[in-house]
Amino acid sequence: MAEKTIQNDPSCMDDYDPDSITPVQALENIFNTIKPVKETESVPVREALGRVLANNITSEINVPGGRNSAMDGYAIKGSDIPDHEIKKMSLIGTCLAGKPFRDFVNEGECVRIMTGAIMPEGTDTVVIQERAIVVGDFINIGNDTKPGDNVREAGEDLAIGDLVLEKGMRLTPADIGLLASLGFVNVSVFKNIKVAFFSTGDELRSVGEELEDGAIYDSNRYTLYGMLARLGVEIIDMGVVGDDKELLERAFQEAAEEADVLVTSGGVSVGDADYIKETLEKFGDVNFWKVAMKPGRPLTFGKIDKTYFFGLPGNPVSVMITFYQFVLPGLKKLMGEKYTPPILLKVPCVSKLKKRPGRVEYQRGVLEKDETGRTIVRKTGKQGSGILRSMADANCFIVLPLDSEGVTPDEMVDVQLFHGIV
Ligand code: AMP
Ligand code: MG
Repeated sequence: MAEKTIQNDPSCMDDYDPDSITPVQALENIFNTIKPVKETESVPVREALGRVLANNITSEINVPGGRNSAMDGYAIKGSDIPDHEIKKMSLIGTCLAGKPFRDFVNEGECVRIMTGAIMPEGTDTVVIQERAIVVGDFINIGNDTKPGDNVREAGEDLAIGDLVLEKGMRLTPADIGLLASLGFVNVSVFKNIKVAFFSTGDELRSVGEELEDGAIYDSNRYTLYGMLARLGVEIIDMGVVGDDKELLERAFQEAAEEADVLVTSGGVSVGDADYIKETLEKFGDVNFWKVAMKPGRPLTFGKIDKTYFFGLPGNPVSVMITFYQFVLPGLKKLMGEKYTPPILLKVPCVSKLKKRPGRVEYQRGVLEKDETGRTIVRKTGKQGSGILRSMADANCFIVLPLDSEGVTPDEMVDVQLFHGIV
């Protein structure tokens, strides 16, 4: 293993590996291979939350439908606003939201109006109630309102013909609110996908089972469950499969019949009991099996018949990182979602970070304010690929490029926030 080699041997001073492809290339291979689902279904607007929109939505109505008041006050004609002196206006009626005033308003007249009420014919300005003095059936106004003030125009939010939402968007709470404001009852979204996953390893026990010497609890099925559940896919948990060729072959075939995607963890290194790549070669196609990244180098991607396959490494941190960087964008593409690259922030890193050139590293960090109010990032504790706490304690990845040779305190680094992915 490179990590264990003597530091002053020049051939071992870096992490370059001729069999590895870069993360950028890996993502490109995934995008070139995965074809989005075409089938759509119509679902009630609330159920569309988190689903991917299957067609463009254009507005067929104006929102708001008519010109209305933005404030509580008095609707007048703007030309009635006096230059200097106070002007006396006669109060001829009231209009409320949902209860319009039907008559025409002439010069010198005004109507009491509430927020959201339609502007009566003849008016174009609202004098807010704090700026009007009521004297019986009259109000006095000054020159502290401008013509057109406090009025919301028809179609100000959405106008007829506006492109409101685009095909390929994952619908947010704001989006389903927009759909409701347009009167949609149902909306067309892409059919959901089925993702099967299992863990491999003779040492793995499921929670509730006894932990004998050398055994460990299977945590990958929990992190994977969490990440898949947040994405909203249909989940098929196939449990733990031992390091046994026949069992693995059977599990591969079963998944290929049931699921659109199979995700496994463990068994992709080059150890004696690592059969995943071999099994994929036997039943399907291997697209790539090593990525120049840390953690997570032995990442396998391919296909078994029509089912896409991701063979993640066994180490718990590697599982989460390879999932977020590769599986998640791949699944999103399959679900019909338009790709948006992650947003990287540039911030000073207050920790010293060790790194050898040759791999992109995803160290775990905390983005926060220091005592002076400056936004900085620091690394979480130990960065080993088996230390899941480094993920649990973090709120971001510190992404160090391939050629980086480490970071000295206060150097600027790229940070990818977990917010929105985790
Ligand atoms: P492998 O890739 O199978 O060689 O596994 C690498 C390391 O990750 C080993 O220390 C495994 O015990 C550990 N590991 C593999 N699968 C899991 C799992 N599902 N949960 C927790 N640790 C695991
Ligand atoms: Mg194993």
